[in-house]
Amino acid sequence: MPYTVKTFSQTSEAANALSSARRTHYMAGGTLIMRAMNEGDQSFDTVIRSTDPTLSQIKQSAARIEIGAGATMAQVMASSELAFLHSAAHAVGGPAIRNIASVGGNLFARCPYGDFTAALLVLDATVSVAGGYSGHDMPLEEFLAVRNREPHQLVSAISIARPATSDAFRFLKFSRVKPARKSVLSIAAHLPQSGGRVSGARIAYCGMAETPIRVPAVERSLEGKPLDEASIAQACAVACEGTSPSTDPIASDWYRREVAPVYLKRLLMGQTSRRA
Ligand SMILES: Cc1cc2nc3c(=O)[nH]c(=O)nc-3n(C[C@H](O)[C@H](O)[C@H](O)COP(=O)(O)OP(=O)(O)OC[C@H]3O[C@@H](n4cnc5c(N)ncnc54)[C@H](O)[C@@H]3O)c2cc1C
Repeated sequence: MPYTVKTFSQTSEAANALSSARRTHYMAGGTLIMRAMNEGDQSFDTVIRSTDPTLSQIKQSAARIEIGAGATMAQVMASSELAFLHSAAHAVGGPAIRNIASVGGNLFARCPYGDFTAALLVLDATVSVAGGYSGHDMPLEEFLAVRNREPHQLVSAISIARPATSDAFRFLKFSRVKPARKSVLSIAAHLPQSGGRVSGARIAYCGMAETPIRVPAVERSLEGKPLDEASIAQACAVACEGTSPSTDPIASDWYRREVAPVYLKRLLMGQTSRRA
């Protein structure tokens, strides 16, 4: 089946085109959408692209950093301001994938993909939607809940908070497949501490539900406690509360539930994925 490709130089034009027709998809790096086209996916017949350079800019203010949706994982890894996210970007595929895979596209990747999105979830991320005629911002968690219902909106950027300290952010991925490296699961944590106690814990998983999710039971169990053997054991005891892992060729739901507490313990004890 032939596909029509429409390329626009302005984000707003691309957003209008995307929202004006039903059988359209936006294409960023194309690592997923090209595969769908090669497989003859007939749910869409038009692909919208934008060459607007602002879509891949990384902008900083005092407290937050805005990452353009079109920024690639390789761009994130080349940014010294985003050093805390290098391990999460490095977790996405191999070098060829990271050169084109975008941050915006990762928000739409189906489980067990979405490793980078789990990292964004613990950094209080908000998503800027260019929309057809009116743009708006929404918390990433809300966005993930509706992303499949509103496929015709263009994400222009994602804004994140800087981690409280350089060691407050942690990321760990468990994968058995190389080099494609689909996750069994990945875990991100933001663990700011005040007076030696965790204050404002955020934990997120990729691979443990249909989309990347926060894990409130683990967050509650850590809150106000020192990060020691006892609190880590309590957190691991509720590691799977509120999750609904799927079974796929990479792992069964049972296996994911078995390994989640093991990897959560490793992360909380300070073991993280290698940085690039
Ligand atoms: C071999 C291989 C290995 C991979 N390994 C991993 C991995 O380890 N971890 C992982 O998380 N993912 C992995 N992926 C999946 C994918 O590469 C990434 O999730 C990537 O970030 C997707 O971005 P993209 O720019 O290529 O998306 P595209 O393919 O361009 O688009 C994907 C979907 O997102 C939508 N979309 C993209 N950008 C926007 C936007 N700005 N606004 C609105 N909609 C948008 C598209 O319409 C489409 O539906 C892998 C893929 C392959 C092929």
